[in-house]
Amino acid sequence: MDDCYALPRGTEWTPVDTALERLRLTLGPITPYEEVPLGQAAGRVLALPAHARRANPPAANSAVDGYAFLWADLPPADADGRVLLPLGEGRAAAGQPLPKALPRGHAVRILTGAEMPKGTDTVVLQEDCAVEGSSLRFPPPEKAGANRRKAGEDAQEGDLLLPACHKLAPQDLARLAVAGVGLVGVRRQLRVAVLSTGDELIQPGAAPGTDGIFDANRPMLLALVEALGYAAVDLGAVRDDEAALRAALHRGAATADAILTSGGASAGDEDHVSRLLTTEGQVSTWRIAVKPGRPLAIGTWGEKPIFGLPGNPVAAWICALIFARPALAQLAGGRWQTPRGYALPAAFEKRKKAGRREYLRARLDADGRVEAFRSEGSGLVGGLSWADGLVELPDAAMTVRRGDPVRFIPWSGFGIGGR
Ligand code: AMP
Ligand code: MG
Repeated sequence: MDDCYALPRGTEWTPVDTALERLRLTLGPITPYEEVPLGQAAGRVLALPAHARRANPPAANSAVDGYAFLWADLPPADADGRVLLPLGEGRAAAGQPLPKALPRGHAVRILTGAEMPKGTDTVVLQEDCAVEGSSLRFPPPEKAGANRRKAGEDAQEGDLLLPACHKLAPQDLARLAVAGVGLVGVRRQLRVAVLSTGDELIQPGAAPGTDGIFDANRPMLLALVEALGYAAVDLGAVRDDEAALRAALHRGAATADAILTSGGASAGDEDHVSRLLTTEGQVSTWRIAVKPGRPLAIGTWGEKPIFGLPGNPVAAWICALIFARPALAQLAGGRWQTPRGYALPAAFEKRKKAGRREYLRARLDADGRVEAFRSEGSGLVGGLSWADGLVELPDAAMTVRRGDPVRFIPWSGFGIGGR
């Protein structure tokens, strides 16, 4: 095949965007509603919008340690611009409000977070004040309301705090907590089953003889599922045997909401994943115009979505990020996720043909330019650890020269941690 197209003609290849659009339009939330205490809600997806049950702050309070007074009652300043006010009794602290209103024309000690006593609207910083007997001398702030936090300035009762479909980050728990939300309406955590296929597979840790291929995909995909915030269900490694695979898929469909398999997705004699999906399940998309990524089978087993990822670990990883990740997000009740990438200058050169999208293992060099891994060989699993993300090259033909902008998607752009 030495023409200007990257893929054999005569077969229909589904563009990446078409495959993604199909997933986006067909997959919806699959996990049921439940209420969980706020402290257990991190990483969960809101099933309903969250509203403020109370204003934050509930009452005006002081932003600093100092003295509170009523700005309108200030006497004229002296030649140095300072005023003298008699000190009122007591002290206002957080959780210990002043029991009664401050008499007119007085100042009173106040600490950060204390409710503004009745009869005060302004606070002067303690560093600016001099206590003289039972009076306070200070240069008054320029405006009424200085150093005071208004009631409801962060949230008003009833305000929409976070919309449905929002995945709760740790800091979101603070937002809900300050507004009085104790129970959160979320979706049950998505369960994703993972299985490997192949007669050649042996398990990591087995005595390293010359036979067999260590199962790299299962630990990688199980960890990815967890990194994305879902519960991983390990279905083990299955031999290239139709009955064994059928049994494993049934187990997966019974215990999980979605299934990731790797290997056996091509059209060969031992490619039981694609064959079983075609005959007993449903394949919605098979030949996708993506590199690396052949073969990738997307469909359903029973009612459950299944991603038949390529056996090659590099391709399995990239296809899981590109296709499974946004689909799983929607199944979990969240929004569709488009990876967040940046146009950055290339530190490499490459010519690509038309007709398929390509992903290169990539990272930034010291000058902020995008380096590509030394080889595109999909057997080089080490390139995944070398990389900090992927370069996405468009479906059309493209010649990349050094300095040309390319789209770099860091691992964090896929919602997973980098280094
Ligand atoms: P397949 O798609 O089953 O033909 O597999 C393609 C290539 O990926 C073969 O070289 C397999 O040995 C390899 N492979 C398949 N599954 C795994 C796995 N779980 N871990 C590492 N390599 C695998
Ligand atoms: Mg195989």
